[in-house]
Amino acid sequence: MMDGFSAKDLFSNAMGLTYDDFIFLPGYIDFPFDEVSTKTYLTSNIELNIPFVSSPMDTVTGRSSAIAMALLGGIGIMHYNNSIEEQVEMVRQVKRYENGFITDPVVLSPNHVISDVDKIKAKEGFSGIPITQDGTLDTPLVGIITNRDIDLIEDRSIPLKNIMSVDIISAREGVSLDEANAILKKSKRGKLPIVNSDNLLVSLISRRDLIKNKNFPYAAKGKDKRLLVGASISTQEEDKQRLDALVREGLNVVVIDSSQGNSSFQIDMIRYIKKTHPSLDVIAGNIVTEEQAKNLIEAGADGLRIGMGPGSICTTQNTMACGRGQGTAVYKVSKYAAERNIPTIADGGVSSIGHMVKALGLGASSVMMGSMLAGTEESPGEYFYKDGVKLKAYRGMASAEAMKDGGDKRYLNETAKIKVTQGVSGAVADRGSLYKLIPYYAQGLKQALQDIGLKNLKSLHQALYNEHLRMERRTLSSQKEGHVHDIYDYQNLTI
Ligand code: NAD
Ligand code: IMP
Repeated sequence: MMDGFSAKDLFSNAMGLTYDDFIFLPGYIDFPFDEVSTKTYLTSNIELNIPFVSSPMDTVTGRSSAIAMALLGGIGIMHYNNSIEEQVEMVRQVKRYENGFITDPVVLSPNHVISDVDKIKAKEGFSGIPITQDGTLDTPLVGIITNRDIDLIEDRSIPLKNIMSVDIISAREGVSLDEANAILKKSKRGKLPIVNSDNLLVSLISRRDLIKNKNFPYAAKGKDKRLLVGASISTQEEDKQRLDALVREGLNVVVIDSSQGNSSFQIDMIRYIKKTHPSLDVIAGNIVTEEQAKNLIEAGADGLRIGMGPGSICTTQNTMACGRGQGTAVYKVSKYAAERNIPTIADGGVSSIGHMVKALGLGASSVMMGSMLAGTEESPGEYFYKDGVKLKAYRGMASAEAMKDGGDKRYLNETAKIKVTQGVSGAVADRGSLYKLIPYYAQGLKQALQDIGLKNLKSLHQALYNEHLRMERRTLSSQKEGHVHDIYDYQNLTI
């Protein structure tokens, strides 16, 4: 008995469908949701435990969000709307990150004064500071200052050498997080410095973080046991230097970032990367057709990024008259790529867990998101209030504001003095922490797969192509019916 339609039937007409235009029919459940696996491939060579990728946008992926994404099992892609040094530093911080350990501690020298600690407290929020001989990490640890040493002193010009504690309880480099936590707990101190054999400070753990210092069993790590991180580059000649610098920091995957990836610029860049950095995986895009996919796969792409115009901040389809309904784009490109063993990323247009499920059910191996991950504690930028609502800025990388901040590098040639924007800048409401949000999305995905009656993404894709995955079009009224309706008032507390 085959109720509903296969994807082949659904996408065989002349219409460009998007996620809301169809729905999957339920399957048969004979397993608990905790048997569902969300393991997937980002590229031919990179596996992830959850299929979520944070977009290379300057209001979405920075140091903290990329660390959170990787710890939770996905991956963050660093944007390139900055200098080479800034992007490299962001990648370096993720690669150097060790869960629970502060690897770039703020230090002062014995000659600094109490008001210097006050300034750090005002800016960073903490006042427990290790003191090294000359106030850098290159000289030995000589003391530590804590809030208790300074809180009752009125004269803030007193040098730290007069009041710092020199009786330091520290641990040796190589200590495990569990061991370090145990020493910290027993010591009743606020901070535990970790030092090497020359007594140089290598990291720090903080009592305040003790409860947060959990293990992350699904973390995305490379063979070197360091967190995975990606970075985007453009197809401009100068980005070859950027790439070399990123690779030197241990970059795991590069995303060639363009709204229309089927260009000689991009094909040349893929070939260049494959020649100069053969072990680096390349995600090419963005694309929405089989023909575009063919060119990029033939040039050597290890993964494809799908989506032209579906983004929440995007005006491309209206301005450029080019693009495709994201459902159709994901199905067509993923099917073509699957026949060649190349994983795809459905990028943009996701505004619910249901959309993530639909993107994966149409053949994508992972989902890239902007707005669903912006507005989090870990995303770049500060919160602000508007009309009583807590917000963070979120903007398109082709918005006027982002292009200006990026030094207008999209328009390097003299003839392109007029800038046509393809995105807007705005704000999204506070979404809390990625450490709660991502597990919530992942749990939603598991329960959805259970409803479809499948235990993993591999079987989902098999069911898609052997036509066991059934679906149907939704009329506008069925879409209306599928949303909350006919009640006076309601709250939607997602977490
Ligand atoms: P792009 O770098 O692909 O293109 C910018 C301009 O530079 C284009 O006119 C392009 O032809 C030209 N160009 C690129 N490489 C060149 C080279 N080597 N020599 C000469 N000219 C070259 O960037 P874009 O497509 O404008 O996208 C900018 C940002 O906006 C990206 O972050 C992108 O992801 C985002 N965006 C995404 C979408 C989407 O739907 N996914 C849509 C619009 C913008
Ligand atoms: P969202 O998840 O719907 O918010 O879409 C995020 C995606 O939109 C990104 O991953 C990019 O592919 C795309 N994007 C980023 N900046 C722009 C822009 O300025 N215009 C159009 N699309 C953009």
